[in-house]
Amino acid sequence: MSKTAALPGATPATATKLAHLGIRTQADLVLHLPLRYEDETRVTAIADLRPGIFAQVEAQIVESDVKYRPRRQLVVRVRDDSGDLVLRFLNFYGSQLKQLAAGRRLRIFGEPRGGFLGDEMVHPRYRLVGEDEPLPEAMTPIYPTTAGLSQLALRKCIDLALQQDDFADTLPEPLRKKLRLAPFADSVRLLHHPPPAVSLAELSDRDHPAWQRIKFDELLAQQLSLRRAHEARRAKTAPPLPAKGALTKKLLAALPFKLTAAQQRVWREIAVDLGEKHPMQRLLQGDVGSGKTVVAALAMLQAVENGHQAALMAPTEILAEQHYRKLSQWLAPLGLEIAWLSGSLKKKDKAAMAEAISSGRSPLAIGTHALIEEAVDFRRLGLAIIDEQHRFGVRQRLTLREKGANPHQLMMSATPIPRTLAMSYYADLDVSVIDELPPGRKPVLTKLVSEARRDEVIARIRDACDAGRQAYWVCPLIEESEKLQLQTAVDTFERLRAELPGVSVGLVHGRLKGEEKARMMGDFAAGRVQLLVATTVIEVGVDVPNASLMVIEHAERFGLSQLHQLRGRVGRGADASACILLYAHPLGETARARLKVIYENSDGFEIARQDLHLRGPGEFLGSRQSGVPLLRYADLEADAGLLDAARETAERLLREFPDAADRHVERWLGGRRELLKV
Ligand code: ADP
Ligand code: MG
Repeated sequence: MSKTAALPGATPATATKLAHLGIRTQADLVLHLPLRYEDETRVTAIADLRPGIFAQVEAQIVESDVKYRPRRQLVVRVRDDSGDLVLRFLNFYGSQLKQLAAGRRLRIFGEPRGGFLGDEMVHPRYRLVGEDEPLPEAMTPIYPTTAGLSQLALRKCIDLALQQDDFADTLPEPLRKKLRLAPFADSVRLLHHPPPAVSLAELSDRDHPAWQRIKFDELLAQQLSLRRAHEARRAKTAPPLPAKGALTKKLLAALPFKLTAAQQRVWREIAVDLGEKHPMQRLLQGDVGSGKTVVAALAMLQAVENGHQAALMAPTEILAEQHYRKLSQWLAPLGLEIAWLSGSLKKKDKAAMAEAISSGRSPLAIGTHALIEEAVDFRRLGLAIIDEQHRFGVRQRLTLREKGANPHQLMMSATPIPRTLAMSYYADLDVSVIDELPPGRKPVLTKLVSEARRDEVIARIRDACDAGRQAYWVCPLIEESEKLQLQTAVDTFERLRAELPGVSVGLVHGRLKGEEKARMMGDFAAGRVQLLVATTVIEVGVDVPNASLMVIEHAERFGLSQLHQLRGRVGRGADASACILLYAHPLGETARARLKVIYENSDGFEIARQDLHLRGPGEFLGSRQSGVPLLRYADLEADAGLLDAARETAERLLREFPDAADRHVERWLGGRRELLKV
């Protein structure tokens, strides 16, 4: 179905605007529900107007004038049987002046306030009417819209869709009755055009039975699509990669540490999954520093034991490089070749790496986005691992997976997504959690320090360096401009170098070439650089255990998960570590709330929970990251009861009424199929 065919009555320009609102089909229009309503069903006498309360007035124009004091404006005086009202338009067209001629009748909708000349309305909505024109019988819906699409135009499209849609209920009648839900058709009609008898308070609280039905339906569509995705996956065949132990046992024996109990548990879960003949799709969550990398390495080895290749993709060059070094160190004794692919490789080297991968000579590949370039072709990809998966879009994750024939997939994340959220937002995903840090980790002491005490912080860095330890200095975040961000990093570096003579200071930022970045990180890891000035390029994954002090400048500008990730760069070695959050006055309310959360908590899951609370799920996940479109009407926490019912109903529909399930998913998600993959 083409887009225009799906939206009868919409011009191509309107269709584009509608697409901005996520509206692609007629059903999308029907499900685009009002934010609120305005009551034009009643007329209020001018004498009864109350300041601050929206009302509709019907009156006749007495006079209409352009006045120049205090500035140019159109002032219209209108009158009904009870009194006079002044309308004021600060911006107006010449045509308006003509239109608003004395003697004309108007319906005016606006918020009255007391003015110098008596009651007045500034920029009210108005409409010319004839004598005895009937009042609308329903409330006027006000829809969420986008720039360039007027309420009127949107309302027209929606009303047309409301006339054309057949609204067949997707719930079989007995089931609907049992659930005590209102019919779908009645519910949408009521919400678009509530009759005067309905209380607006009930509608705005979304408690009304009509809202309950819509929220239930939305949750049901989500549950159905989750189950569909799960079934689709079970129908696919992946290469079974059972645990053989030939290589994994060798790695375990050679590691300088023992796996924590949590690592062992998740490793078992993954090892079993890999042995199945359906593709694994698992999210490995574990707080910063919980040791996900070694679990990834074990999984890769299990693929290799079975004669398959494994790939590990990381979002930044620094992180990918670090994985490459670490895994080379762990796996070299096993005689395995690892291919390394990054954007900064020379063309020739890239081609050589691609050849090693496509010939199958390299059983393992590690890299950045370069891994998913077209030229890279795996011979037998059995396992695709994505580190810091929230940094990648759905499309990129799919592309890596498509490099093999239904390979197993492991995603890793240190930005913990609360479990309920993960399960509801990602199409079909199993979750493993590492809920324990390796032994001997000392908690990181967090301090909030005002910018005014910068000197003390400098002294502290000197002490740490004198004692043979290392430190990070994270430059202030400047989101608006990459250029400015770079300049700030260079300035900070110069200034710290001047302030700390005798200390060897290094600088990394996003604009360095791959090899320059790698050299700087290598120097820091080896201790040749004592203080590393960095932008957020070090945010993910970087692991230098001897670094025990971190300063974050203008910490108030960072997001919570960013602060948590950054802080996780220290506290990895034997020394007690500290993270100093430098902040500047004045602190806004949310910035203060964020700093309080990070100061009081060290557990990533708790921080994520509070972050979710501060920001709401939409922003927390970003729809780009989620496999399933975010809920628009229902709320997972507030509507937990409906969610349970939707979950049960989904199961039953699929079993007993698969056609109804199809129609339901089509209605709710038909226009958004692309998003329904992970
Ligand atoms: P993350 O989960 O943040 O990716 P890493 O995998 O980078 O964490 O691990 C952090 C550090 O802890 C690394 O230096 C790693 O070698 C080390 N590590 C991992 N597991 C253990 C363990 N069981 N005991 C001791 N150290 C470990
Ligand atoms: Mg990591």
